[in-house]
Amino acid sequence: AAEWDRFTADTPESGDHNRRASKSLPLGVTSSFQHWDPYPISIASARGAWLTDVDGRRLLDLSMGFGAMLVGHLNPTIVSYVEEALQSVGTLFVTPSPVSTEVAERFQRRFGLDMLRFTQSGTESLMYAVRAARAYTERKAIIKIEGGYHGGYDALQVSVKPALEDIGPAEAPIPDVPFDVEAGTVHVVPYNNLERLTEILHEHGREIAAVVMEPVIENLAIVVPDEGYLAGVRALCDEHGVLLIFDEVKTGLTAGYAGASQRLGVKPDLVTLAKSIGGGLPLAAFGGTEEVMQVVVDGRMAHFGTYNGNPLVMAAARAVDDICTHEALDAAETINVATLDAVDEIITEFELPAHTVALGVKGCITWSPTPVRNYRDYKATDFGVAELSWLWGVNRGILTPPGLDEQWLVSLAHKQDQMDVLVSDFRELAQALRS
Ligand code: PLP
Repeated sequence: AAEWDRFTADTPESGDHNRRASKSLPLGVTSSFQHWDPYPISIASARGAWLTDVDGRRLLDLSMGFGAMLVGHLNPTIVSYVEEALQSVGTLFVTPSPVSTEVAERFQRRFGLDMLRFTQSGTESLMYAVRAARAYTERKAIIKIEGGYHGGYDALQVSVKPALEDIGPAEAPIPDVPFDVEAGTVHVVPYNNLERLTEILHEHGREIAAVVMEPVIENLAIVVPDEGYLAGVRALCDEHGVLLIFDEVKTGLTAGYAGASQRLGVKPDLVTLAKSIGGGLPLAAFGGTEEVMQVVVDGRMAHFGTYNGNPLVMAAARAVDDICTHEALDAAETINVATLDAVDEIITEFELPAHTVALGVKGCITWSPTPVRNYRDYKATDFGVAELSWLWGVNRGILTPPGLDEQWLVSLAHKQDQMDVLVSDFRELAQALRS
């Protein structure tokens, strides 16, 4: 029974910390995603693939900062480049600098972008990408994917993981934004459904600036595109003069050397990047074709930010680009594939109603015997077992992401024997579930 307890017996300091933090920070956390029931485990330090919580427990980190810590915690190359910046470059100039130009040139090459701009967060990058699409097309409305999450920008708060009974065909309510300033300009379509997209574009195509989507959805565990789906979306966007924005905040470097779009062979007009590109420092970017990014050059839209391209995060980005070679990412992916194979064997052996899904160095177990193709399928999976499986891991020192909508990440610091711990833990969970 201890396996299913909500970790309170072993984490009194985390409980105390949350009570103290709640007096200064709403809910005691610095992002609403950090709040768990009854309180989140507070982390004192991290190194490599490991976390140490304030109770002194060591946890194997498979969340890795929602995927941002692809290079591992306190990666020595990141530390040395950032230390060098701190010792001899500076932290903020608010003027152009070769340090930011160098990183822009590296990202240009890696991601095949004509032009890009840096921001601090995925949310900002999405906001500016939508602004760029509106400026370029001179249209206001956008289309997003039902259930999809793209950060906190108002326009993209429509249909973010709604309860099943709240799902509407289009212009769904905005539950978390006090004034739905964007209502009426956001259309919602299910993922993997070209028919609905075709209909909306047929009806409203001339008002629509962009389709905004994760090419592979990584906010509903992992949902992969049907064969030909992304190419179909690309073709429909072209037909209607609508820009395609791929949100690669999560897929970025974790889907492969240059993101999911390169891996899957479909090129968007604009892409948003964050998380893994910064090695744990707050770096994000948006960019795309020269023709579209021209809107920033000729003043059809503005883009600002005091901290954009600052030397500290640029140093980290340079390190990430050096570290994340094809070889390093392939090695992590090989470990991920071996892990998934082992988990699949256990699912088969114990006849569990589950299956694995993977992309690059990320993987997840989805508690449904059949593939998940969209948000409605995802909501029909067994969240009760998913929650038990998460608690099982946390109580045994393995931290997979708490939101159940996330996935594990094999960072460059993870070794096969650490992933073997996940596998043996899962075998014991399977035995417990079947007993
Ligand atoms: N887009 C996607 C797909 C995300 O998963 C997230 C964050 O999880 C964001 C955008 C927002 O990024 P940030 O938290 O850096 O604002």
